[in-house]
Amino acid sequence: MDKNRKEEMADKMSYGNRMGRAIKSLFTGFRVTQKHMAKAGQHREHKSIADDRYFEDADKSVTIQYPMEKIPVPDMGRYRLHMESEDCIACDKCARICPVDCITIDSFKAIDDLGYTSDGSKKRLELAVFDIDMAKCCYCGLCTTVCPTECLTMTKVYDYSEFDRDELVYHFGVLSPDQEADKRDKLATAQTSKKQVSTAKKSGGLTPKKKGGLLKKAAPQKSSDAEN
Ligand code: SF4
Ligand code: SF4
Repeated sequence: MDKNRKEEMADKMSYGNRMGRAIKSLFTGFRVTQKHMAKAGQHREHKSIADDRYFEDADKSVTIQYPMEKIPVPDMGRYRLHMESEDCIACDKCARICPVDCITIDSFKAIDDLGYTSDGSKKRLELAVFDIDMAKCCYCGLCTTVCPTECLTMTKVYDYSEFDRDELVYHFGVLSPDQEADKRDKLATAQTSKKQVSTAKKSGGLTPKKKGGLLKKAAPQKSSDAEN
């Protein structure tokens, strides 16, 4: 057999080997598909990840008819934020630590007694605006970590898509525009009258006694006429 004939035979064999391997792998793939098709009618039972049997159905179909069917999420899931306005002291810590600036707070000094939060912290500021833009939030959870009264929490609500992006801005402020205007007016009036009293006391010769003490009137200076 000449050299060219030998090379031709070797080529034909390697071509046959390659075809054999391709067909074999094709049928291996079909077998895997067939196995999944046989189980396609068997859905996973929806149970909490805390359930000991959570991984029992690992081989069953993972496709679910969302949103009619939903896979349960853990109770400690970190999704949409919630703020308990009654417990917020408007300290601004959450807004300052947020890496994407999605929390906006506007507060001002309270004239009325706002009482205490559920953990006993005194509320001194009116919470006019507390907005969270959940479209920007990256779910890092830093804001919930620094909150001193633990009124800001992450919930397991993950399905809150909206057609209008503005609907993803959640408002937790407690004052209506009218209430805010009224309270700001009262504050401005109180500050003005306080300033007037302070000015009047200074011009009337009142001087502070000691730090934390009461104001007392300074002793009148003897006039030079009286001395004479
Ligand atoms: S979870 Fe992170 S990104 Fe979202 S509001 Fe809190 S600090 Fe900002
Ligand atoms: S850190 Fe907590 S208490 Fe302070 S402003 Fe934010 S939500 Fe309110």
